[in-house]
Amino acid sequence: MFAHVAVENVPDRLFTYVIPEGLDVRVGQRVVVPWRQVMRQGYAVAVGDTAPCLRKREKPSEETPEQGDLFGTPSGPKGIRAVAAVDDPLPYFSETTIRLLQWMAAYYSVGFTLALRSALPAPVREGHAGARELYIVTPVVPPPADPKRLPSRRRQLYEDIVRVDGGRLAQLCEEFSTTPATVRKLAADGFVTCEKTVVSRSPMAGRRVLPDRPRPLTAEQASALKTILDADRAVLLFGVTGSGKTEVYMQAIAHVLEQGRGAIVLVPEISLTPQTVTRFAARFGSRVAVLHSALSDGERHDEWHRIRRGEAMVVVGPRSAVFAPLAKVGLIVVDEEHDSGYKQDESPRYSARDVAVVRARLEHAICVLGSATPSLESWRNATILGKYRLAEMAHRVGHSTLPSVMTVDMREECKPGALVPIFSQPLIEALKTRIERGEQSILFLNRRGYAPSVQCPKCGYVMTCERCSAKMTYHIKDDTVRCHLCGAWSRPPMACPQCHAPGFRYTGFGTQRVEAALHAILPRARVIRMDADATARRHSHDELLSSFRAKEADILLGTQMIAKGLDFPNVTLVGILAADRSLNIAYDFRAAERTFQLIAQVSGRAGRGELPGQVIVQTFSPEHPAIALAAACDYRAFVAQELAEREAAGLPPFRKLGCVTVTSPDPGLAERTARRAEVGFRVCRGIDVSPASPAPLERKEDLYRWQLLLRAESSQAISAACEHVLPRAERLRKDLRVLVDIDAVFLS
Ligand code: ADP
Ligand code: ZN
Repeated sequence: MFAHVAVENVPDRLFTYVIPEGLDVRVGQRVVVPWRQVMRQGYAVAVGDTAPCLRKREKPSEETPEQGDLFGTPSGPKGIRAVAAVDDPLPYFSETTIRLLQWMAAYYSVGFTLALRSALPAPVREGHAGARELYIVTPVVPPPADPKRLPSRRRQLYEDIVRVDGGRLAQLCEEFSTTPATVRKLAADGFVTCEKTVVSRSPMAGRRVLPDRPRPLTAEQASALKTILDADRAVLLFGVTGSGKTEVYMQAIAHVLEQGRGAIVLVPEISLTPQTVTRFAARFGSRVAVLHSALSDGERHDEWHRIRRGEAMVVVGPRSAVFAPLAKVGLIVVDEEHDSGYKQDESPRYSARDVAVVRARLEHAICVLGSATPSLESWRNATILGKYRLAEMAHRVGHSTLPSVMTVDMREECKPGALVPIFSQPLIEALKTRIERGEQSILFLNRRGYAPSVQCPKCGYVMTCERCSAKMTYHIKDDTVRCHLCGAWSRPPMACPQCHAPGFRYTGFGTQRVEAALHAILPRARVIRMDADATARRHSHDELLSSFRAKEADILLGTQMIAKGLDFPNVTLVGILAADRSLNIAYDFRAAERTFQLIAQVSGRAGRGELPGQVIVQTFSPEHPAIALAAACDYRAFVAQELAEREAAGLPPFRKLGCVTVTSPDPGLAERTARRAEVGFRVCRGIDVSPASPAPLERKEDLYRWQLLLRAESSQAISAACEHVLPRAERLRKDLRVLVDIDAVFLS
């Protein structure tokens, strides 16, 4: 028998090993194999009685690592080396997950081992964050012999342990100033027992959660739930903010749990707040596991193994949770499915939403994609192509209604000769009213594609990073200019480096400047600022939100971070400053879609409770459809118009898009390679290739970047062309890298 093994840290190939007599190797198990001069960990991907082969490109006998018998492991035919050991009989991957990863490797044009790697959290892969082991000491009463016959210190210890009725070994040693060895001697004599238990480090530990029960569904919710449970394919749940999508998810989960199957709930990283987790924990108790990058390594390790052992059946987490090691999956939910955070921005550049749809199909599970502003891809799949079913919830639960939205034309707020104000008069008035009434407000600053840059008022020179071609950002707090890409920083210059004029100006406004301006206008308002700088500490995100919830502040000011999922009943005003900022990114064809989604999502934060909500949108282009239709809360009109434009332009979701980026410290090498690839793609049938050109971000961390855009009828056609044209070896070289992004979301 042979095993085909993905060996750790060898991203691109699989290796064949003989399974020695007496060793039982099964698919998905973690194994130890000889690799070159060392032993390495790996995962059995396939097992069979002929040397199994997953991909035609791989010829097993040639790809076998060095021959010979360094470790005394028995050799098989033709000198193929043997699996040394099985690390754990319980598999790490189910056969279905392996099929999913094979699909992923082919679809996204990456090596199989790299795909497999992305399915394992680092602490699990590295394995050194083993579960915490505890020894529990229990006194044996009555004693097996007369304690007086024990040496006096041990006798005293026995009596102490009886008195406190045992406990944790470490704690007893500390309390009674003794050593584990002494306790073990007592155990050897039969006076106490000392047993090992494994205690999971759970992120929910120490958190009190009040249990809750399913609520009676509204008519819309009931009908959506029925569509979901009856569906023969993925379901797009198009429900306005506050329509009770989460309740529908939870009742669908309860349904699959009854069948003995598990569920995965994907949420955008940013909305994976304790609030979200608590809602699931309240309903499903200890069956909930959380996988989350903000957990400690130990917590992530333990949660993952709890799922693998079948102790947790409901997994809540961000995109990588789509690979959760549940044995039987009955349901996968992708909440806020339009969120661009589901796309991984490093290789393999998978979309967790799309992987979820495929995994659900392979597992015969239900897949629900929920959003108030579905992506154009999903909308088209549900309403035009019939690939998904559509369930709609058009009303908020209970008495709360959607907020009224007002746009303020900032061109009219601008006094002649003066700078554009940060706050319009209507917004200032509205903020004042809220403070008087004891209600809360959220101010949202749309920063994507626009940072407070450092510009010379005379010659217009804009400061950029020396290593990246990104604009530098001014930070008022420590008076520095910083590159948000590589972290480089310096003091702001006194004079312009180009024309030497004094008086550098910081254009635009970041959250810090808005906060300062807010204090000037409303000196008594209590403001909480939430952005990447303010939430760098591990728990500060939660702390800031709890404090806002406890009404310790009047205004929450923040970036993208506050746009999603938060539910504050006392918030009655949402202000969006400079709503059109994200519209002005020339190379981002999704700019309008993103702007629409952002305004709709942020507006959804207002009026979640009994009190009606108001939204004020400040903009320079109130007539732009993304803004006008978001203000009118008219999703259907917006998608109809946007889809027509994309179709006319031959852009996704109509034609599929792939992006090939070539990077090198040598600008000539990057350019030559990109041009050579362009020639290669020209002869691929069905592929439109753009001329090789410098990427929008021409330099990043001292690397020059060139780009090619590929368009075709299907993404598979693009990955097939990439396999054909781009040598795999070049994707790993240090001085030259070729990165493939299938279904590219961000072009930079
Ligand atoms: P969404 O996820 O669609 O924005 P939520 O699931 O957060 O909406 O629901 C909004 C609010 O309505 C929550 O406070 C939730 O507890 C409540 N809710 C949801 N469904 C019901 C129901 N059937 N009956 C009563 N309250 C509900
Ligand atoms: Zn930089």
